[in-house]
Amino acid sequence: MSAPVFLLATNNAGKLAELRPIFASLGLECVSMREAGVSSDPEETGSTFEENALIKARAAMEASGMPAAADDSGLMVDALDGAPGVMSARFAGGHDVSDADKCAFLLQKMADKEQRSARFVSCIACVFPDGGEITSRGECEGSIIRAPRGESGFGYDPVFVPEGFGKTFAELGPEIKNGISHRARALRAFGEELARYLGRQTC
Ligand code: IMP
Repeated sequence: MSAPVFLLATNNAGKLAELRPIFASLGLECVSMREAGVSSDPEETGSTFEENALIKARAAMEASGMPAAADDSGLMVDALDGAPGVMSARFAGGHDVSDADKCAFLLQKMADKEQRSARFVSCIACVFPDGGEITSRGECEGSIIRAPRGESGFGYDPVFVPEGFGKTFAELGPEIKNGISHRARALRAFGEELARYLGRQTC
């Protein structure tokens, strides 16, 4: 059985740019929602990254009839009891707030915190037209610095230094980030889950 074409259920250009090459490296064909002419933007009502990834993947599969993969991700900061967590995109007041303002809001909340440990988390869900569902999770440990540095990436990249590196994700750039990020790790686990799932289907 040949591998299906996957719909990437995100409108976030930064995530698409990271997801595409990783799918390609797994030998999987994928299209964006715009390329497929599909629109789907369900409310993210889940309380975990897994639940929200499944909500987005299910809605995109229902809208397109294609196997749909969605990522839900965010930053968990220990000194803020895991915030912003599933609220990462809406942390500073809404979806319209710029990435720079979200970083500034986070740094302001962290101003008096000595404990700077944090992690990015990504969950990927894939929902198939036959009702099958798979999920995977990846994490990247690191710390929050005191002032933004670097230009590449998106979201909280300029304020997050991954463990073992002296530079932020935004300074490291996509090649290094895509090797170690939460999304890269979740996608590698996703590739294994998917191979198992497709293998099981042909049995
Ligand atoms: P989602 O679209 O609901 O998954 O929103 C996740 C939010 O978490 C994004 O809008 C970013 O603010 C943040 N985020 C997730 N992954 C990353 C990343 O790789 N770098 C920086 N910020 C990220």
